Amino acid sequence: MKTPSEVLRTLCCDRNEACLERQCITCKSKLIQIKDDPVDGPVEFFPFMRHVSNISHQYEEISKLKKNILQNEVLVHVDFSENYTCK
Ligand SMILES: [Zn+2]
Repeated sequence: MKTPSEVLRTLCCDRNEACLERQCITCKSKLIQIKDDPVDGPVEFFPFMRHVSNISHQYEEISKLKKNILQNEVLVHVDFSENYTCK
């Protein structure tokens, strides 16, 4: 597993909010075993998945705002990435 997308494909049946928020009945119990984990137990990726869910929600909301912006309005988007990576 080398990319964040691979992690999501392993843990989620889809990239919708229910899956990413671990509320989907089909995939909420999926876990990833990490061989190098000292206790060789399951690793919880929920903070990362919530981060992806937030990005997805933010993208959808920004798209709605852009589609409905008025002539006298301005949209300012400021983002601070957490830069999740797989190492
Ligand atoms: Zn799911």
